[in-house]
Amino acid sequence: MSVRKVVKYGEPSLRIPSKEVLKVSKKIKILVEDMLDTMYAQNGVGLAAPQVGENYRIFVVDVSTGEEPLNPIVFINPKIIKKSGACISREGCLSFPEAFTDVRRYANVMVKAMDRNGRSFVLEAKDGTLLARCIQHEFDHLNGILFIDHALNRFDAESELQKHNLPPIEVEKMLSEPELQAEIDKLPKEKKAE
Ligand code: ZN
Repeated sequence: MSVRKVVKYGEPSLRIPSKEVLKVSKKIKILVEDMLDTMYAQNGVGLAAPQVGENYRIFVVDVSTGEEPLNPIVFINPKIIKKSGACISREGCLSFPEAFTDVRRYANVMVKAMDRNGRSFVLEAKDGTLLARCIQHEFDHLNGILFIDHALNRFDAESELQKHNLPPIEVEKMLSEPELQAEIDKLPKEKKAE
């Protein structure tokens, strides 16, 4: 299989909503293998199809981070069926080389998807673990949403992008998330300051 080129922030494919996979065909299976190869080659913990310029509803994650054996999880046509709690986490993205900023996320998510053989599964990730955050980050990519749209502090995110020669924040894309904000407000003080 092969390592594909990861598109960078500014590329239109990152802002386009991706289409459902109608059949887990040979072509889709190759795309999934290539996405895994690409994610590992870049030392990423997740990668979504639009990041390799393919606007399909597919993402892959592996939060085993360097440990053996590898633990790849493939999500095809994922749906987030439950979300609750909140956390603040520092995130980056393979499409934003070296740029990191704090974002708001739900702490717990339940996702339903198909695996690379077209079999349906449900997975729950809790307590703001890397897996829980990663699923939300990658899922967003399928809707043309980027982690900077959830930035806790727009100005921090802006200066981080500038520092790494990336295009500026698209203020009109930033999300207002009253339900998530209400969960953030419930966090103990020290967690909010993280
Ligand atoms: Zn990303």
